[in-house]
Amino acid sequence: MTAAERPPRQIDPEEERALIDGIERWVEREVAPVAMKYDHADEWPADLVEQMKEMGLFGATISPEYGGLGLPARTYAELVTRISSYWMAITGIFNSHLMMAAAVERFGTDEQKAHWLPRFATGEVRGGLALTEPNAGTDLQAIRSTAVRDGDDYVINGTKTWITNGIQGSCVALLVKTDPAAEPRYRGMSLFIAPKGEGFTVGKKLKKLGYNAIDSAELIFEDYRLPAANLIGGEEGKGFFQATGGLELGRINVAARGVGLAEGSLRLATAYAQTRETMGKPICEHQAIQLKLGEMATRARAARLLTLDAADAYDRGHRCDMEAGMAKYFASEAAVRNSEEAMRVHGGYAYSKEYEIERFYRDSLLMCIGEGTNEMQRIIIAKQWVKQHPV
Ligand SMILES: Cc1cc2nc3c(=O)[nH]c(=O)nc-3n(C[C@H](O)[C@H](O)[C@H](O)COP(=O)(O)OP(=O)(O)OC[C@H]3O[C@@H](n4cnc5c(N)ncnc54)[C@H](O)[C@@H]3O)c2cc1C
Repeated sequence: MTAAERPPRQIDPEEERALIDGIERWVEREVAPVAMKYDHADEWPADLVEQMKEMGLFGATISPEYGGLGLPARTYAELVTRISSYWMAITGIFNSHLMMAAAVERFGTDEQKAHWLPRFATGEVRGGLALTEPNAGTDLQAIRSTAVRDGDDYVINGTKTWITNGIQGSCVALLVKTDPAAEPRYRGMSLFIAPKGEGFTVGKKLKKLGYNAIDSAELIFEDYRLPAANLIGGEEGKGFFQATGGLELGRINVAARGVGLAEGSLRLATAYAQTRETMGKPICEHQAIQLKLGEMATRARAARLLTLDAADAYDRGHRCDMEAGMAKYFASEAAVRNSEEAMRVHGGYAYSKEYEIERFYRDSLLMCIGEGTNEMQRIIIAKQWVKQHPV
């Protein structure tokens, strides 16, 4: 779906305020007290997931006609930011799921939308996007998994890795080659709705630096059979664009997580700097710490404004891939810088597992990888910038 075909989304300001207030209360009451426990134990937060279901988060961006909340990108970004400012990782449970749902809503047949979207919206069926393979991340067109037509079915073989919600979820949007010899390579790629079943197994849970408690898994497909009706859009060869077609919204989502991490790091540093004393005064009165807080506050605000700017353009139905890329790039780097500076403000205690800031530091680094690495992001921004400014 091009920007021009994307229907603008709006929300009543009072309804938006109530929603954001509700999320803020939930995060402070339910999430903040348990984030450290779940993160350290690397344990999936089953109780929080039930609460997220009740709040409708699994249908946040799915249209109301399919049972979702149909939120505009700006409201969704605000929710993601608020949650991420306390514990970014749990946004991955519904965010990757919503990327799968978006692929079905944008590109699926009427039957596929009617069957899957209401189940996705309630969280009855949850999952994510299965694109990456051991040999192919940035270069997605190099994937080796295949789907071979056999009567009314496809037979799928291959391995995916790093798949968020791969263990706890029951379904993925699965990118494979239906024509491995096609040139250009993207023409041979197709995207399927793939529920767990015979031939679809979880290889192993991946151990990570951060983003703990959220399952990242290797998925193995061995003669896994899927009905042809599960081919998204019903036509082979469209998978690459279907899988990457949600990239504007995907980048806004990662940017929103980055803003949350940058703001959360600032909040922790600000509080610590006012209570920790050296040389007879709170460290926030030392100029070296003030320089840090001043930069961190400015960086967090700039990241927020870039992200909301991209989200507003998206909601107006405008093309905003460059703006979303800028927001993703800047906000994720802001998250890394702010969490590192907040570590320094905490001195030796930053290195203690008894303080929260070390989690923000570990989680921030992931934001530079997802939805296109920041190396690729800058290259994409530059190419579009030059295109928009011909001599
Ligand atoms: C915690 C976590 C969760 C994830 N969740 C998912 C998920 O749910 N679903 C999914 O499909 N994937 C997921 N991924 C995978 C993620 O999308 C990939 O890791 C990412 O796309 C980068 O691919 P790669 O790791 O293969 O790195 P590579 O592509 O090998 O890149 C290595 C380095 O080379 C640079 N590089 C590569 N190509 C170029 C180029 N042409 N020009 C300049 N620089 C280049 C990159 O920027 C990077 O710095 C997840 C990863 C992590 C760590």
